[in-house]
Amino acid sequence: MNTNRPVPLLDVPRGNAPMREKFLEALANVVDSGRFLFGPDVKKLEEECARWSNARFGVGCASGSDAILLSLMAVGLREGDEVICPSFTFFATASAVSRLGGVPVFVDIDPTTFNIAPAALKAAITEKTKAVIPVHLFGQCADMDEIMSICDRQGLVVIEDAAQSIGANINGRPAGAWGHCGCISFYPTKNLGGMGDGGMIVTNDEELEDRLRLYSGHGMRPRYYHKVIGINSRLDSMQAAVLNVKITHLDDAVAGRQRNANLYQELFSLAGLGDEITLPVAKFGEGHVWNQFTIRVHAGRRDELKAFLTEKNIGSEIYYPVPLHMQKCFQSLGYRPEDLPETLKASKEVLSLPIFPELEADEIKIVVDQVKQFFAIAQRRAA
Ligand SMILES: *Cc1c(COP(=O)(O)O)cnc(C)c1O
Repeated sequence: MNTNRPVPLLDVPRGNAPMREKFLEALANVVDSGRFLFGPDVKKLEEECARWSNARFGVGCASGSDAILLSLMAVGLREGDEVICPSFTFFATASAVSRLGGVPVFVDIDPTTFNIAPAALKAAITEKTKAVIPVHLFGQCADMDEIMSICDRQGLVVIEDAAQSIGANINGRPAGAWGHCGCISFYPTKNLGGMGDGGMIVTNDEELEDRLRLYSGHGMRPRYYHKVIGINSRLDSMQAAVLNVKITHLDDAVAGRQRNANLYQELFSLAGLGDEITLPVAKFGEGHVWNQFTIRVHAGRRDELKAFLTEKNIGSEIYYPVPLHMQKCFQSLGYRPEDLPETLKASKEVLSLPIFPELEADEIKIVVDQVKQFFAIAQRRAA
């Protein structure tokens, strides 16, 4: 085994290569059909995503970010409405709230899963709370049993940010259809990644499906008569055609990620780095679809480890270095960093390692060996 072999964080071409001919055929069909929007490929993908999410409907849109924005529009978010969400997430979870004049209310996470802590969510509910956006971060479902029981009792809208987590589930019940609607992203690094931007909202609510379509098409119905002020957000047939090919391999891709996660767990356990790092926990077992394999690095060594891995040509990334409650654009909301201590701590400790489905066992061994090497060198220096 060549231990100097570079290991990328993500290798999109490696994943796509075996499907190349199928992609070209699917794209040629779109070219020949001339139906670049609203074609049969979009409808098919909507049905497939609904099936994966155990939902009745899927509504395509231009991105995962738009999926969240459209969901908030369709449930009737109004100026001043509060929406509870985690701070430890990608920006799009909360920006949609602000864009519509709502107020994001950031709450802390459960340190073992990085997902929103149900007790913190409950404590943040006020008279003004309209909705909650739990995020299924890194491929693992938030604690939806707890969250739904709190939100149902209070009559709150639940919009699941499942951008990283198509197919994630709790005892077989998938992300996306626990609440009112679920938002999926087809950004190329997601578990079902397209060749550009794309998104989908899944829902069981027929009326909501109708409103989502209305808002995503400029609020226009019939043509040139505008009922509400919507936006233009569509999934195009090219993306849908590609994604219809990829979704037939999604089961295998998820299995690959799970196999890789298991090998990491095994090798890291053997490495005996329990004091130096904490491994990710799959709270709901096989329901974790591992969009990221995210470790915690203790004793303030995270950035040093990342630099070491970079030097060894091993990809790693920090998701997310600056929590949303500490972002400049949200300064006016008045949070202090220490208001969300687990979020702050996570942002200083997390490091995501390569986990993509086609990663080879040898590559995982290299990653683990180099992490071991880093701590061994550090120990020698300390001695
Ligand atoms: C990627 C992502 C989004 C946004 O999806 P885009 O398709 O990139 O717009 C939203 N929320 C989370 C948690 C994400 O990871």
